[in-house]
Amino acid sequence: MKTALGTILITEQEIRRRIAELGRQISNDYLKTPVTLVGILRGSFVFLADLIRAISLETPVEVDFMSVSSYGDATTTSGTVHIEKDLGISVGGKDVIIVEDIVDTGLTLFHVYNILLGRGARSLRVAALLEKPGKSKYNRPIDYLGFKIPNKFVVGFGLDYAQRYRNLPDIRVLDEI
Ligand code: 5GP
Repeated sequence: MKTALGTILITEQEIRRRIAELGRQISNDYLKTPVTLVGILRGSFVFLADLIRAISLETPVEVDFMSVSSYGDATTTSGTVHIEKDLGISVGGKDVIIVEDIVDTGLTLFHVYNILLGRGARSLRVAALLEKPGKSKYNRPIDYLGFKIPNKFVVGFGLDYAQRYRNLPDIRVLDEI
């Protein structure tokens, strides 16, 4: 498939402003309360890097990453998940925010949420930069959502196509040509 970068959907400035707001919200919600950010690799690393710097120093923040691949499955609604890289820390008894780049089917989030719940996280919330409409298997609202976007394939700000375009500073639609 031949592809080309399409129009800018969300500008660098819009992203910066929104992340600053999310950081303020998290700082208020976790004032003087330690919080653990769990980034889902690889797409979330750019969002997480900006988000963590938007959180006040009054909030002690711990960070770790995990990588999972989830597969849809015709016979079950939830599919299966494979942990490719696990956390190095324990989340037992901790207040955790899962940090995801984009929620599409919601399968990845559904699985990670349940894994961390099973490991005894005291509370679990979700921060996602982007959400596509409708078909999410993760049927709770996203606690800290950057932007709702239309159902198009997007790249930039950490999101890739075949490992490219993660270094774009804005979010763009990828067009087939
Ligand atoms: P879900 O499990 O919610 O269907 O998918 C989540 C993962 O699929 C994201 O973390 C991301 O890696 C990938 N993904 C879903 N939609 C897009 C998209 O529009 N662009 C890119 N680059 N990745 C996407």
